[in-house]
Amino acid sequence: ADFGFERVSLAEKQGRVDDVFRSVAKRYDLMNDLMSGGLHRAWKSHLIGMLRPGRNRPFRHLDVAGGTGDIAFRVLEAGGPDTDVTVLDINEAMLRVGQERAGTRFSGQIEFVTGNAESLPLPSNTFDAYTIAFGIRNVPRIDVALKEAFRVLKPGGRFLCLEFSRVDLPILEKIYDAYSFHVIPRIGARVAGDKESYKYLVESIRKFPSPGRFAAMIEEAGFSRVTHRVLSGGIVAIHSGWKV
Ligand code: SAM
Repeated sequence: ADFGFERVSLAEKQGRVDDVFRSVAKRYDLMNDLMSGGLHRAWKSHLIGMLRPGRNRPFRHLDVAGGTGDIAFRVLEAGGPDTDVTVLDINEAMLRVGQERAGTRFSGQIEFVTGNAESLPLPSNTFDAYTIAFGIRNVPRIDVALKEAFRVLKPGGRFLCLEFSRVDLPILEKIYDAYSFHVIPRIGARVAGDKESYKYLVESIRKFPSPGRFAAMIEEAGFSRVTHRVLSGGIVAIHSGWKV
């Protein structure tokens, strides 16, 4: 069923998002691989390649909507001994999976924090970089989350967002539509036992602003030198901005 997000309150929308990720947390990583055919790994690596955490200098990183830790682990692998990452997510079930995956690796360099992207429980001017991967489209007030990103970054800090976008080739669009409306909810039903959550996923992608509009929102939050690039024919986009 359509979640009818236009008709529900912001709190209710967040509540439904939370239900989705609580229900899929344990199978989230497997689902990501199945649904993207492993492509999410390449997209995430691309994001880290743009970030280039220094190996020989302190680097404080914040990964918001960090879920099961995929981005955080990659930042720590690419960075040096003075890199540390805060993984923030609103959903404790997702963070618990992340903590289990981290085990004793990166001890002292990774911290898991429960919190909301719209009101980060973190001090201003603290981080060298802020990432959010496949997270911002779940946040009810994107403009508020962007302002929070700007607040917690140090001057000179980098904002990077990886998110689903709009496929720009008509032939690819047809395949993508068929895949997302028919195949994804079925895989969701079979593997996670949760078809509705994956229908929600597809709907939320459709409702997300175009790359140009999203870039304008990032500028409105205060960021400079805002750019974006699309990957895989527009299936995803990476937006970048700087706090100067
Ligand atoms: N970044 C991870 C990745 O790329 O694999 C996880 C992405 S997952 C699709 C979306 C995550 O956003 C979920 O873990 C969910 O709990 C989190 N989330 C949703 N609303 C949020 C909010 N308002 N603040 C922080 N995290 C939120």
